[in-house]
Amino acid sequence: MTIRSFNPPPRSLMGPGPADVHPRVLAALARPTIGHLDPAFVGMMDELKTLLRQTFRTQNALTMPVSAPGSAGMELCFVNLVEPGDEVVVCINGVFGGRMKENVERAGGKPIVVQGTWGRAVDPEQVESALRQHPKARILAFVHAETSTGVSSDAKALAAIARQHDCLTIVDTVTSLGGSPVEVDAWGLDAVYSGSQKCLSCTPGLAPVTFSERSLEKVRDRKSKVQSWFLDLNLVMGYWSGEQKRTYHHTAPVNALYALHESLVMLSEEGLEQAWQRHRHHHLALRAGLEALGLELMVPESERLPQLNSVSVPAGVDEAALRARLLSRYNLEIGAGLGDLAGKIWRIGLMGYSSRPANILLCISAFASELG
Ligand code: PLP
Repeated sequence: MTIRSFNPPPRSLMGPGPADVHPRVLAALARPTIGHLDPAFVGMMDELKTLLRQTFRTQNALTMPVSAPGSAGMELCFVNLVEPGDEVVVCINGVFGGRMKENVERAGGKPIVVQGTWGRAVDPEQVESALRQHPKARILAFVHAETSTGVSSDAKALAAIARQHDCLTIVDTVTSLGGSPVEVDAWGLDAVYSGSQKCLSCTPGLAPVTFSERSLEKVRDRKSKVQSWFLDLNLVMGYWSGEQKRTYHHTAPVNALYALHESLVMLSEEGLEQAWQRHRHHHLALRAGLEALGLELMVPESERLPQLNSVSVPAGVDEAALRARLLSRYNLEIGAGLGDLAGKIWRIGLMGYSSRPANILLCISAFASELG
């Protein structure tokens, strides 16, 4: 059998990620590869850090993309900040909070779980009470935008509670960054990670992260070595730090970083606040179309993520069969529910370059034809 070049079908990506990648970003990916220690590349890395600081709304010196997907950004935060025996308060209101707990355990820490409801925001009062009951805990971890349910939690309020209890925060902004407000400095967030493939309109595989000075002090004060060599911040910083000469750590994914650079240039051209507004505006348009078809959004309005819409599957409809038809007949990808919500919801993403009128029209007309 002869295996030939792979040419993907022309999909519209309206699931929970990855989202559609802008053609400018794809074009950047195809530019010639240069050495990752080449002065021209190093100059681009500095620009990338500046662009990421703008996107995270932070002055944090340590702001960079990890050369691996969002999950590695998550792991980087936990392996560097959690030492064996540390108590960490972890909020779980969906799949990704559960992964945070797993990360605490693997780093030798003791997770104290604030169990929330799938489909609802993290409850600040429950968090406050957990921190009061566990005064030794020094870290609060939560997911800002829970992709498994389409719920946004109040990161500002949760971070303020953490500060009152002298805790650092580890915050997942994989689905929020670029799509809805993330204010790292104004909200006082400490270790924050994201992913390239959602509201940043870039290809998957990179994890922007930013660390406050307070959180770096905890990393420097560690008594034990970080168990992961690749994710040890002390070593990674040697490559990404601005002032001194870069030391070789790993071969950077050169072309992927061109792509992230281009996507962030595009975001700064659009304006971050305009991008948030675009996501909100298109969410309202999608919602109007879905409601006109008699469909309902699952999450209460004040807790909804504009970039990820959880739609209740009407009684009698086979949700998997409908998704399969959308893919085969319309080249349209939407997401299924996970865990307790499997079979009960569809997840329709409007993230980054996917958040545009043509996708909304395609989605609504496809649903109208298939359900009508
Ligand atoms: N955290 C959240 C909230 C996510 O939605 C995802 C991916 O969907 C991740 C973490 C993991 O990111 P990745 O799949 O890029 O490893």
